[in-house]
Amino acid sequence: MRQLFVPCYLVEHPKGRLLFDGGLPKNVADSKEPLSIEGGSLVYDRWIVDQLADMGLGPADIDVAVYSHLHFDHAGAANAFIESEVLMQQREWDAAFGQSASFIDTSLFDRLKHASVTFIDGDHDVFGDGSVQLIFTPGHTPGHQLLSVKLENTGQILISGDLYHTRANRELRRVPTFNNNAQQTHESMDRVEQLLEETGATLWIEHDKVLADSLKRAPQYYD
Ligand SMILES: [Zn+2]
Repeated sequence: MRQLFVPCYLVEHPKGRLLFDGGLPKNVADSKEPLSIEGGSLVYDRWIVDQLADMGLGPADIDVAVYSHLHFDHAGAANAFIESEVLMQQREWDAAFGQSASFIDTSLFDRLKHASVTFIDGDHDVFGDGSVQLIFTPGHTPGHQLLSVKLENTGQILISGDLYHTRANRELRRVPTFNNNAQQTHESMDRVEQLLEETGATLWIEHDKVLADSLKRAPQYYD
């Protein structure tokens, strides 16, 4: 049995507050029993909106919302953040509404059609100073991206999205069966590995529970 972790990241920048990945849908947190899905089950104590409320923040306090990709475990709360500016890879959006795919539930993010969405195509420097950047890494999904954050004391961190699900994925260069395009994923892996080597950045694999258990969680933070 393997346990995966599902994180959300709150980035505080002088120019605004950014949420990267919104985690699982609310119904998982509402369920008293673990929710069964194919091959596993989901447990969620408090959904992201309640977790933010614990820190005195409402959805309207999130200036920018970004999702590594639109799978249900990353964009599950997207409809709650329609007051934010949403940065969306055009290819991810088109693919999500274009054809049905595993782990895509458009009802979790369809309210974004009425929100302020800025469509992007490729890498994107969110605040214009290089400190928070989206790195376009397609393959897992057509518009998959990961987040690079440069922190004064912690250094640079790359937050993986689902480029890798586990450390073994990375060591063995394995691609999951529900992946959209294996060749693209391998190219994205090469790009990220090179970036890690060049920058000395730390990679956080989002679903790595052992890693997650070793990291500080809100309201603690990295600076
Ligand atoms: Zn995932």
